[in-house]
Amino acid sequence: MQVTLDKAQFEAALKRQWQGFGLQQSQDMTSHQWWLATSAALAEQLRAQPLPKAENQPQRHVNYISMEFLIGRLTANNLLNLGWYDTVNASLKQQGVDLADILEQETDPALGNGGLGRLAACFLDSMATVGQPAIGYGLNYQYGLFRQSFDDGQQQEAPDNWHRENYPWFSRNGSLSVDVAFGGSLVKNEDGKEHWRPAFSLRGEACDLPVVGYRNGVTQPLRLWEATDVHPFDLTLFNDGEFLKAEQKGIDAAKLTKVLYPNDNHQAGKRLRLMQQYFQCACSVADILRRHHFLGRKIEDLPEFEVIQLNDTHPTIAIPELLRILLDEHSLEWDAAWAIIRRTFAYTNHTLMPEALECWDEKLVKSLLPRHFSLIKAINARFKKVVEKQWPGDKAVWEKLSVHQNKQVRMANLCVVSGFAVNGVAALHSELVVKDLFPEYYQLWPNKFHNVTNGITPRRWLKQCNRALSTLIDTTLKTEWVNDLDALKDLESQVDNADFCQQYQLIKRENKIRLAEYVHRTMGITLNPEAIFDVQIKRLHEYKRQHLNLLHILSLYRQLRDNPQLDIVPRVFLFGAKAAPGYYLAKNIIFAINKVAEKINNDPQVADRLKVVFIPDYRVSVAELMIPAADVSEQISTAGKEASGTGNMKLALNGALTVGTLDGANVEIAEQVGEENIFIFGNTVDQVKALLAKGYSPLALRKKDAHLDAILGELEDGTFSNGDKQAFSLMLDSLLGGGDPYLVLADFADYCAAQKKVDALYRNQDQWTRTTILNTARVGMFSADRSIRDYQQRIWQAKR
Ligand SMILES: *Cc1c(COP(=O)(O)O)cnc(C)c1O
Repeated sequence: MQVTLDKAQFEAALKRQWQGFGLQQSQDMTSHQWWLATSAALAEQLRAQPLPKAENQPQRHVNYISMEFLIGRLTANNLLNLGWYDTVNASLKQQGVDLADILEQETDPALGNGGLGRLAACFLDSMATVGQPAIGYGLNYQYGLFRQSFDDGQQQEAPDNWHRENYPWFSRNGSLSVDVAFGGSLVKNEDGKEHWRPAFSLRGEACDLPVVGYRNGVTQPLRLWEATDVHPFDLTLFNDGEFLKAEQKGIDAAKLTKVLYPNDNHQAGKRLRLMQQYFQCACSVADILRRHHFLGRKIEDLPEFEVIQLNDTHPTIAIPELLRILLDEHSLEWDAAWAIIRRTFAYTNHTLMPEALECWDEKLVKSLLPRHFSLIKAINARFKKVVEKQWPGDKAVWEKLSVHQNKQVRMANLCVVSGFAVNGVAALHSELVVKDLFPEYYQLWPNKFHNVTNGITPRRWLKQCNRALSTLIDTTLKTEWVNDLDALKDLESQVDNADFCQQYQLIKRENKIRLAEYVHRTMGITLNPEAIFDVQIKRLHEYKRQHLNLLHILSLYRQLRDNPQLDIVPRVFLFGAKAAPGYYLAKNIIFAINKVAEKINNDPQVADRLKVVFIPDYRVSVAELMIPAADVSEQISTAGKEASGTGNMKLALNGALTVGTLDGANVEIAEQVGEENIFIFGNTVDQVKALLAKGYSPLALRKKDAHLDAILGELEDGTFSNGDKQAFSLMLDSLLGGGDPYLVLADFADYCAAQKKVDALYRNQDQWTRTTILNTARVGMFSADRSIRDYQQRIWQAKR
């Protein structure tokens, strides 16, 4: 069932908006006010829609808890999913206003770092679209991920105030507020039971964003909690003239959801972060139970109706929080409470890298959450009996599996022990979870472990960001493919249709021109749309190896100088990436790329054959512009390090050819598109392990390879840094003296060989176009709709 927008009602709502601004006529609005007014009017119209009748769903309701939801701009997406775009467009046109223009006014709600937060956003879209009843729970950060700019090539960070207080899509419902207690101590009751006496509490206010299913009448909430003081202003203090102190109290509370931690795949270990985690979990668990009770359901039946999906370990503290409520507030016995816990929680693992696996200092947990700490120890004590039975007297195994070890609480272990399901996010990753990360747990509970390969929503990542290609697919297939992405298979036969091929090629070219205009407007750099647009967009991290890409650029640059007649297809290397502010090595890689870019872009010898562009402030809206324009997709992580990747899926769907290692979902992309339609290179997981085990020497490699030696030498001798020989030492020390833990040099030669094949194929434009069409046609399985159906079958709705 689709809901229609009444044009007259929309226009009346729009009028109320500009009148609310105190204006005499709509023409007095600025572009930004047009966006605000249009969005607010749409949000009002959406709220006025009749709710679809809550059918007596046999399905469990999903509570998707995530510290991050990188939702991107909402107005355009909601218009698309509701099917209201044309009506609104026509209405604004009558007023002389261009809808596409005003949609550019929206500041991205950047409430996430990268892939993990974007995945959560794609999954919400797909759950609403496939009819999986769900709610997303997160935090309403006042400042999203920092804004990035460059000063002489160095990353600068500025706060991202996205003005959540005026964001028109929020509904704030005061009746959903939750009080959350912290600190204090445990005291014994007369009955000998321990009792938590907290030191202070904060209030969580629910701020809901609508998640709109694709033309099916479904709207589900993304509920983001915002911290305020329980007593926003202490009047007694105020009357005593101590109002500054009173205000101070309010500020402290508001701090809690002020900022998103800017780390990706790295734990900060900060007290405020643990407070955020608990705050979010306490609010969300209270909300789940409130709804359960409201529907007249018994507490023992919770797992029949609700599942709590933990997006990585960040919300793990929800486990002891639910246990605490069952024991202390519902007075259940341990066994009854534990039976509920172990049928309610499911955990998604996102990484094998030790620095990202969360461990919390026991002192911190104990001081902030004494009751939870005590419950974690109780869980661990009971689990010890299970381990003792399976591995009698084996101390080493216990030290590995224990939830509480070396004065640390290990969140991943707590999830595996307490939950009914654990999943990895791509076939290879899930295999490594079982083989390398949790082999003993797998021995204990083989049926707990699953794979669910990640996916992306085709609504935002094709229909919305690449309208021209979507229209071509519409007219070619004549079916509704956007919620049935496997239907793209039927495009395969079009590779023999010269007219289709030509149109597909033309669309790519127009998307490249559109990106080139953006780059020219914002950076003053001119790009040649005939060149190969070679794109690497993702967080800056050593394991993602942006510096491997850089070495290839330096290799081409050196070859061009050695041989000015060298025949290469012109290439534009485009980067987009933020580095965590405290990750100095990553920032040094950004600096190196920018300095190399400066030199190459200004070298008349190179002319138009090489360009290097680092687009600042990479975010969802920039991704939407870059992805449709990409010819080449760089997915070059060290094998075994990238859990899945989703950028790889977005790019392949939009007809970019992947240069990639056999890592994460690249493996499955290669299977789908066929190995003749992808450029796979580099050491495999097993080869990486073998190399690291036998002791790999980057210095020896350099000695043997004169070309590589020359390239590295130029980074060392100040060629790109006005003679500063130390400019790139953080990066170089890790590659050379540091032993090159991510095997950048070990994969360099094979990477360059793969890039040569890219160059060769591009010269044959017919063949290139056929290959890109086959990529679009064959990656339907990476729709997040398929991921959600896998979660339903394997985890959420599986027979138990
Ligand atoms: C998809 C996406 C990511 C994830 O990219 P990977 O290449 O999978 O790491 C990160 N940031 C944004 C803005 C995205 O849209």
